Amino acid sequence: MLIDCGEGTQIQLSKQNIRLGRIKTILISHLHGDHYFGLIGLLSTMHLFHRKQKLTIFAPPELEKILALQLKASETTLCYKLVFIPLLHDGLEEIQNEDQFTIQAFPLAHGIKCYGFLIKETPKQWRIDKDKLPENMLIQEIITLKSGENVSKEDGSIKYALEEYTFPPRPSRSYAYCSDTSYYEEIIPFIKHVDLLYHEATFADDMEERAALTLHSTASQAATLAKKAEVGKLLLGHYSTRYKDPTPLLDEAKTIFTETYLTYEGETIILNE
Ligand SMILES: [Zn+2]
Ligand SMILES: [Zn+2]
Repeated sequence: MLIDCGEGTQIQLSKQNIRLGRIKTILISHLHGDHYFGLIGLLSTMHLFHRKQKLTIFAPPELEKILALQLKASETTLCYKLVFIPLLHDGLEEIQNEDQFTIQAFPLAHGIKCYGFLIKETPKQWRIDKDKLPENMLIQEIITLKSGENVSKEDGSIKYALEEYTFPPRPSRSYAYCSDTSYYEEIIPFIKHVDLLYHEATFADDMEERAALTLHSTASQAATLAKKAEVGKLLLGHYSTRYKDPTPLLDEAKTIFTETYLTYEGETIILNE
């Protein structure tokens, strides 16, 4: 999935050797240009590459008209199916449910409609302890153990106890992406305990007034939110161009939440395995 698609997204994707065919879902947080001006270019390139599989876009509703007009003006009929799903809801809502993960969206506080996204791995299976596996255990019995249940005999007594033959499932990882927003405590219950939180940090502390005025956040506010939501790690981004070097933002945030990191173009961040 791709979250937001500003100018230069195609260049970054190609630099990272990410094949466009691998992108199945695009989430657009809001319709300020720095979050979607790269989209029509990307969609056009997918068309030129003869994409076959469908592409799903979740975004504020106005984007559908914008894309339709852009495609109409260039007399382009996309060769692949584009499914557009408008984001209109309040509160936290599940918008996609795949085999391996779910995506939920929730409103942020940014003047125009703006959504944050929460991506959660679906619960994983219990892991069979291969050293203890009896040779005569049936496939169906293995499936039962993997689903987290004891295997019972016909009389109801336990044949294979779950704890004896399995290890608990690996934890399901979660990631929350909070693009442009002012400090907004309403989202804390939605992002509580996520492993990784990306939160915008446009300004340093001395610009707090400007942050409130422009409906953006300071790095300290992002860190406060991360602390209150008890997340694992906090990533900062969306720095104002006034900061040639965003290190002061990191320093301020770290006084509140030590597990804070800056993000840079092209960086790969690995969530705990
Ligand atoms: Zn914005
Ligand atoms: Zn922005």
